[in-house]
Amino acid sequence: MPSISTEILIVGAGPAGASLAAFLSSYGVTGLMISAAPGTADTPRAHITNLSALDALRDIGVADECYRLGHQGEYTMHYRWCKIKFQSLTSIWLMVSGETLAEQEYARIYSWGNDPKRLTWEQKGDYAAASPNPGVLDLPQTLLEPMLVRFATNKGFKVQFNTQFLSFNRRKTDNLYLATVQDRLRDVEYEIVCKYLFGADGGRSLVASQLSLPMTIGNGGAIATNVHIRCDIEHLMKVRQGNLHWNLRLKRDDPWM
Ligand SMILES: Cc1cc2nc3c(=O)[nH]c(=O)nc-3n(C[C@H](O)[C@H](O)[C@H](O)COP(=O)(O)OP(=O)(O)OC[C@H]3O[C@@H](n4cnc5c(N)ncnc54)[C@H](O)[C@@H]3O)c2cc1C
Repeated sequence: MPSISTEILIVGAGPAGASLAAFLSSYGVTGLMISAAPGTADTPRAHITNLSALDALRDIGVADECYRLGHQGEYTMHYRWCKIKFQSLTSIWLMVSGETLAEQEYARIYSWGNDPKRLTWEQKGDYAAASPNPGVLDLPQTLLEPMLVRFATNKGFKVQFNTQFLSFNRRKTDNLYLATVQDRLRDVEYEIVCKYLFGADGGRSLVASQLSLPMTIGNGGAIATNVHIRCDIEHLMKVRQGNLHWNLRLKRDDPWM
């Protein structure tokens, strides 16, 4: 396969890579962004978007689009803690069944600026003074990433999915980087020659590990199990709007939730 030349190569098209491509392209700087995945994120994951991020997105003219795509207000109104009925971790599926989300509620607090005390103009002051944007936004990365990729490609950035970064070298003669990548569709390797190489390839970054960059922040010490489900819980949520629902049995579960 012949090599490709580009001034800028971004490895990864997640929130970090896609926003880097969008911000660079807003200055007329273009390049190539690659991602091993077949497309943008397929699960929501990161979603609460703070005002500073939205200020930056407003600078490149996409904040209104973000507010159109995301949620505010009642959907981010509360954090809730409620009782869970399951007897063992193997019956974890019960956690998502209606009876447990609808079980006894231990506590509920207002979140993300939705405390009624803040809803009058006078009390909203700290949010309003901090940003021209109308508050914190719940914008899942499934919706944010395609928008950023579209913005960058409309401004001339090239994007290749199904392209896995393998390693890089620096060429002594001209100091350019040679990134070896694999086209996952054709199962062939080729080189991308670039002046600037950006590693935005997530928590298990190969770029960072090849540079021996120390990852100074480990995980929080707890074990997290992620279960992705799709079900209709509208009938339960009407009176339980919340951004996060913690299910637990007081005293018995600590540190499990
Ligand atoms: C289950 C789960 C729930 C989460 N919930 C939240 C939450 O509620 N709130 C929150 O703020 N965050 C949450 N996160 C974390 C959030 O998803 C990450 O912080 C965020 O995605 C990091 O963005 P990133 O662009 O740095 O990396 P990623 O989103 O990991 O993107 C990495 C990109 O690099 C590509 N890539 C990786 N390796 C290679 C390679 N070798 N070659 C080419 N491309 C490569 C991937 O295909 C992808 O495009 C959650 C994460 C998980 C897993």
